[in-house]
Amino acid sequence: MTIALAIRNLTAGHNGVPAVRGLTMHIEAGEVVALLGPNGAGKTTTLFTIAGVLKMISGEIDVLGEPVKSPTPHAIARRGLALLPEDRGIFFQLTVEENLRLHCYRRSSVNQDQVLGYFPALDALLNRKAGLLSGGEQQMLALGCKLIADPKLLMVDEMSMGLAPIIVKRLLPVVRQIADDTGAAVLLVEQHVHAALSVADRGYVLTHGELVMEGTAQELDDRREILEASYLGGQALDDSD
Ligand code: ATP
Repeated sequence: MTIALAIRNLTAGHNGVPAVRGLTMHIEAGEVVALLGPNGAGKTTTLFTIAGVLKMISGEIDVLGEPVKSPTPHAIARRGLALLPEDRGIFFQLTVEENLRLHCYRRSSVNQDQVLGYFPALDALLNRKAGLLSGGEQQMLALGCKLIADPKLLMVDEMSMGLAPIIVKRLLPVVRQIADDTGAAVLLVEQHVHAALSVADRGYVLTHGELVMEGTAQELDDRREILEASYLGGQALDDSD
């Protein structure tokens, strides 16, 4: 068992004000783990702290076997961590192929053809500027850009943002496939709870910055009512179609 990410008693936040308190969690290589919770629960804060974009207030984080102490995002990225942010992080003025090339580091063992194997729809779009793609195509490209960097730990923040549920249902299994094929650990922040749990091995639920529930994907899905109660209004769970 290789632990890709280990977090112990993490307190993290913004300008010294905690948004996440006492978080302990881990992800093994090849696992897909969902990080769930309502708006403002601290999910993005957690991802940004793991990635070194935010400095932790206290606690410990090990990314790919090494502690995160005075992290710089590029140093952590060099270890093999990739963060796919909510805004997708692609260059709209560059073509699909140029975006992919930009993310393909020399040490990567993943090539463009392999990326197109996961996202065949991108093949006919290689010469199109990313800004002209549909939301779903942009998200495929964004995932492809992370995949081509051959990450060992992939963190995906709200991949479904702005996408039709049908597109989300097509993309999430690809994330599962990437973990199975490459052995990458995946941390998935997702509002579509049911869809996320359908591809995840395990999940953690944050509310107001604190861990309120954790378990296998099946256990969490079986406890949907309790999970729903942890969501403001519960609308995030109304997606079981
Ligand atoms: P969402 O699903 O809406 O993206 P989230 O679970 O990702 O929510 P965070 O974005 O981590 O939650 O926000 C956690 C808390 O930190 C919130 O109270 C938010 O207002 C606060 N916060 C987020 N970013 C900043 C910032 N740059 N400066 C100050 N406070 C912030």
